[in-house]
Amino acid sequence: MKIAEKHVVTINYTLKDNDDNIIDKSDDGSFCYLHGANNIIPGLENALAGKSSGEDISVTIVPEEGYGTRDDAKIQAVPREAFPPDQTLEPGMQFHAEGPEGQAVMVTIATVENDTVTVDGNHPLAGVTLNFDVTIADIREASAEELEHGHVHGPNGHHHD
Ligand code: ZN
Repeated sequence: MKIAEKHVVTINYTLKDNDDNIIDKSDDGSFCYLHGANNIIPGLENALAGKSSGEDISVTIVPEEGYGTRDDAKIQAVPREAFPPDQTLEPGMQFHAEGPEGQAVMVTIATVENDTVTVDGNHPLAGVTLNFDVTIADIREASAEELEHGHVHGPNGHHHD
């Protein structure tokens, strides 16, 4: 079986930046996704298409095919009083905020200076070139329900109450 749309794919992977730092890794068969459903970044999905179970691939993904480029417009200075007074604020902390169109966005605190908190709405991996070493552990056909939901069910997938 080869990786194509409507298949559930299990991969083991190591993700590194260009300085050889490990950003993320999964080696216990717990990461699976539904191919063709935008569950994973486009660059990785494209690299996996047509591959077979047991194959190893190495792929370098530019930010445009990964988590996007960094946008300085997403960096904003916010008054300290916009946060709860008893909330500890430190660089690197992440929280959900409301975007310009009311959508939920994840922001990261960049700096805290006196009464001003600078927050960065870029994805933490925006602008980062991603180097994946991947082993394809399993490929199976998706169930009708998984296709309808657009994600994987089962022990390592999505759970519904
Ligand atoms: Zn579901």
